[in-house]
Amino acid sequence: MSIADFYKSRITVAKVYGIPVRIDYRWFVVFALSVWLISSNLQSYVNQISSFSLPPMAPVTAWILGIVTTAGLFLSVFGHELAHALMARAEGIEIEEIVLHPFGGLARMRSEPENPRAEFRIAVAGPAASFVFALLALAAAKVAALGGYVATLVIFFFLGWGNLLLAVFNLLPGYPLDGGRVLRAILWRKHGSITHATRMAGICGLLVAATVILFGVYILIAPNWRAAQPYFMGAWSILVGLFLLDTAARIVKDANNARQVTVGDAMSPAVAIAPELTITQLIDDFLPLHRQTSFPVALNHELFGILALEDLKALPRERWRLTHARDVMRPIAPRFFVEPSTTLDYARELMKRNGVGSLAVINNHGKLVGYLHSGKLRPRARRTGKKAREATV
Ligand SMILES: [Zn+2]
Repeated sequence: MSIADFYKSRITVAKVYGIPVRIDYRWFVVFALSVWLISSNLQSYVNQISSFSLPPMAPVTAWILGIVTTAGLFLSVFGHELAHALMARAEGIEIEEIVLHPFGGLARMRSEPENPRAEFRIAVAGPAASFVFALLALAAAKVAALGGYVATLVIFFFLGWGNLLLAVFNLLPGYPLDGGRVLRAILWRKHGSITHATRMAGICGLLVAATVILFGVYILIAPNWRAAQPYFMGAWSILVGLFLLDTAARIVKDANNARQVTVGDAMSPAVAIAPELTITQLIDDFLPLHRQTSFPVALNHELFGILALEDLKALPRERWRLTHARDVMRPIAPRFFVEPSTTLDYARELMKRNGVGSLAVINNHGKLVGYLHSGKLRPRARRTGKKAREATV
């Protein structure tokens, strides 16, 4: 079974802020393992927690603490994902679902963030929430220790360190971890290309994954590693590392494919308007048939400029009849056209900055051959960025 299949079998358990929360079936196995790990630890060993030295506990107490602590840890993962989801929503991105899977969680977004700043904010929201949970839990543990409430102390102690681990681990600088997305936002801002940034952050993700796997191997074979459950921890690190490796490899591959997608693959046939067309004709005859927010102004495939509908807002209605497309268009300039062989990646960035959100496509004879509209890229082109998004931890 491929790792991607992990996502497929899941049930909806709740709706929070209108967002469906789904749980992977394998998640229950991990839940049971975590309960067993914590309770067997509490039953079998003397645990040094804060200033307390806890003797091995009675089985019932240990099991109850194991269940409550595990539930708390999984709620923490959910809180982490919810923080991503709410920040994404604040940035205007719709959330499809939150999934809790065996290796953590995922807030799946409908689209990519618009700019590096949004990407950065969404990425750091999760670890920031985990840090806050960690501080609150450790403070609660401190209070419980002062009051001598041992059971409460155990729960908050585990929750505090668990959340701290969650925050720090997720900040490792490799995609698909949050730290990798922070890195992606920084590279995106620096070089102006999201595909290049995704590819570099994905390569860092491969390195992080390899490190996590090696760490797991080290725990397994190190002679004096004093972890309570070295075999479990080692195997778990290796599994998480393999999961990250698989995801990062897919991200790099997608980014490589995306780099090869050209404007020619994504453009639509150009629906051009003649320079002499009046605005009345445009609005009455043309617009009902072609729902676009801008049009190339051309005659016999020769481009004169781009007419953006928003530019018409300033034009009083009584002047529509006497005004021609050429009077209100934005005259041709390098920021308004590309060639079919230009990468879509470059064209996307240009569309964001050129003020009309679209580009005319001109061949090497200077003829208008197509039109590119940021909201209407053809399916093959649209798909490329989205797969990577699905892998966010
Ligand atoms: Zn996260």
